[in-house]
Amino acid sequence: MSGRKYVTTVGVEVHVELATRTKMFCSCLNAPQGVAPNLATCPVCLGLPGSLPVINREAVRLGIVAALALNCAVNPRIWFERKNYVYPDLVKGYQISQIAMPLGERGWLAIIGDDGAEKKVAINRVHLEEDTARLAHSGDNSLIDVNRSGAPLMEIVTDAVLRSGREAEEYVRKLRAILVYNGVSRCRIQRGEMRVEANVSIAPEGAKELGVRSEIKNQAGFNHMRSAVEYEVRRQAGALDAGGTLRQETRGWDDVNQRTFVQRSKEDAHDYRYFPEPDLPPLNIDPAWVAAVEAALPTGYEDYVAGLLGQGLTAADVDALSRNDALGFLRLAASAMGDKTVLFAKRLIKDVFALANSTGVPLDESRLGPSAFRDAALLLENGKIAAEGFRTLLDVLYREGGEAERRAGENQLFVETDAGAVAEAISKVFAENPRLIEDFKNGKIAVRNALLGRTMKAVGKRADPRVVSGLLDQALQHQGRADHDRDTRLPRGKS
Ligand SMILES: [Zn+2]
Repeated sequence: MSGRKYVTTVGVEVHVELATRTKMFCSCLNAPQGVAPNLATCPVCLGLPGSLPVINREAVRLGIVAALALNCAVNPRIWFERKNYVYPDLVKGYQISQIAMPLGERGWLAIIGDDGAEKKVAINRVHLEEDTARLAHSGDNSLIDVNRSGAPLMEIVTDAVLRSGREAEEYVRKLRAILVYNGVSRCRIQRGEMRVEANVSIAPEGAKELGVRSEIKNQAGFNHMRSAVEYEVRRQAGALDAGGTLRQETRGWDDVNQRTFVQRSKEDAHDYRYFPEPDLPPLNIDPAWVAAVEAALPTGYEDYVAGLLGQGLTAADVDALSRNDALGFLRLAASAMGDKTVLFAKRLIKDVFALANSTGVPLDESRLGPSAFRDAALLLENGKIAAEGFRTLLDVLYREGGEAERRAGENQLFVETDAGAVAEAISKVFAENPRLIEDFKNGKIAVRNALLGRTMKAVGKRADPRVVSGLLDQALQHQGRADHDRDTRLPRGKS
């Protein structure tokens, strides 16, 4: 290595699939479950002659939500362009996108920079476009599934302001959390719902212009992106130190060998022959609509997290909620920041994430919705169901869905307040465990818990532990008194 020092510059482009019911310009289902390949299509998303696109209002609304959440200005009049290129997954031969007037511009997202201080990452633009088909390669064959063609896609582009792989990784993690929290996209990376590209260049310290950049495509995960950026910085510095020059190119990441490799030389915007989409007039975005969308936005992501920490959740709790994409779920379950929020958060972490682990189904793919979860948690809180019944109810809701109250009834989970049945169970346990009773009478108070456990088991999950516990203590006192009356021997205290 020579002694030359370089400044690293990274810009990040993120594509996310919007969580709409239908596609961007037609009424075909977006990302339908269980629909065979190439059946969720129509003349519009197949690009057949004579078909006309219609803009999906919900996709525009989600775009506005994202733009506002990222502190962007929303442009009052936008339009779409055709981006022309040839690739097997582009069945129409062009993609409807935005170049001249994006939906949102000039925003920012705060991260902790490499110097430890807060850094506002400038977001250049947020624009809407449509997705391409999906290619699958096996052996010598390539298969195409057009179901994804025309799915609503949003692109979020930063200025070239990030200084390292670490900053880029922190930015995309935070971006993902904000988009998921606001319900814009589910951002499941393994399903291609979020795709990240990093533009990396280095320039000698003090240089006025940026160096030649390489664009690293579609990394599978955020840690891959960071590794790829860090490798690329080393590769470029090595090339420049050796007296070489760099080419503007698109590179892929080889995770096995931990290196980037050339995919193709990079096109410039003019290579795409953009022109205004002739089938769509410009779209006026009513400021009153933007104001209504803004008014309906939830508490900002950062304020929400700060509020949770202020209410007594630990950073580890918040991290667990965030990793499970459950902050938005929690917000919907506990709509007002009340004392119930912490309670619900603890139940989510303890009981629901355990179900996610044991079933292998993440929360957002389960049948459990925020309102059913809230109702179930309140049934437990109000003593209508017991702890074990609550876990059973959650399990049913998680796998099968439905309303908490109805499911609790169907599964006979409401607590038994029939004191007679509990007393009967206590008598039975006492009769079956004479030694424990004898131990108790001899002062071994701790056996009470063993007796309680056996009684709970005998009455089943419908029993309210508080009722059982009270009746058990009465019965034990009665045992003690009976002995006292008989021979004045008192049970000894704890000491
Ligand atoms: Zn269609």
